[in-house]
Amino acid sequence: MPTMYYEGDADPTLISSRKVAVIGFGSQGHAHAMNLKDSGVDVVVGLRPGSRRAERATEFGLRVMDPADAVAWADVIMVLVPDQVQADLYESVIATHLDPGDVLLFAHGFNVHFGYIAPPADVDVAMVAPKGPGHLVRRQYVEGSGVPALVAVHQNASGAAHAIALSYAHAIGGTRAGVIETTFKDETETDLFGEQVILCGGIDSMVRSAFEVLTEAGYPAEMAYFEVLHELKLIVDLLFEGGIAWMRHSVSDTAEYGDITRGPRIVNDETKAEMRAILEEIQSGQFAAEWMDEYRAGAPNLLAARAAVADHAVEQVGRDLRAMMPFLVEKIPADDV
Ligand code: NAD
Ligand code: MG
Repeated sequence: MPTMYYEGDADPTLISSRKVAVIGFGSQGHAHAMNLKDSGVDVVVGLRPGSRRAERATEFGLRVMDPADAVAWADVIMVLVPDQVQADLYESVIATHLDPGDVLLFAHGFNVHFGYIAPPADVDVAMVAPKGPGHLVRRQYVEGSGVPALVAVHQNASGAAHAIALSYAHAIGGTRAGVIETTFKDETETDLFGEQVILCGGIDSMVRSAFEVLTEAGYPAEMAYFEVLHELKLIVDLLFEGGIAWMRHSVSDTAEYGDITRGPRIVNDETKAEMRAILEEIQSGQFAAEWMDEYRAGAPNLLAARAAVADHAVEQVGRDLRAMMPFLVEKIPADDV
């Protein structure tokens, strides 16, 4: 079992006695900055001049600086701009304003692990990665609970990198739920694997294929939507609450028999071999290189796929059906990469 840390394992004064810059105010950035402020930490948000998000940060009472000024001012810098942007931002803004003894923090190991960012030897490099979306990191902190987090040290120049990272995790609410000790390598590889084979890639592809099979066979799109997309949440909630046995206990015996006999035909030996191939592409850095090339070319495939999915029948019928559910607030994705 990996080492776990809870409230009593962290020294809150380590982070509250330092100046912290949170660079970026997106999903994770807003949550970290607000939680740090509420925990009594001296925090500044680094945002590009004229950024729309600066207004929101200021309204909350956070100080906003240009990213370069924020890095120069701070002695702990948490990098929360998108992964594909971090290397360029590091080269153009962060590197020149780092001082010896500074602590550079990340919420995902991607850039450091794959070598897109190589900090100087005289700074600490560590990770505090909440295992949940930013809006939950904020909401659960406010409610008095917290989202679990991973902590890892890549470079320990000061000898205190681990203790500072843990103190930061404490200030954003992570130690309330539990913080797991890991490495940049393990966090990066497992995170990418999870999002590719199941959480995003696997589920998304299964939903669309299953929807197509039903509608192509003549069943109404509305029924197909409820069956293969909407109901997924109910099943995932059961898995979350009590694992596979609890899910199987809650569904009918008929559903359970269908699960044990048909499931292995959907995810078979060939699928598992493909999962291994995907893991190898992650481990070798092939996926990372491909994604950085894609982003630097203007993300043509990503943008094309984004536009295409909007026209998919499951999305069209979904928009109409969700509009009839008063308990759902319409979600409109912004088109930035
Ligand atoms: P995001 O896309 O929600 O936010 C990005 C922020 O960076 C915004 O404030 C945006 O204005 C700013 N930004 C974008 N491009 C920029 C540029 N070129 N220069 C300067 N600023 C720029 O990002 P996120 O999802 O919060 O991800 C931040 C980090 O947190 C990533 O390393 C990610 O892997 C990690 N992470 C995210 C989640 C999550 O729930 N989204 C969970 C765990 C870890
Ligand atoms: Mg993730």
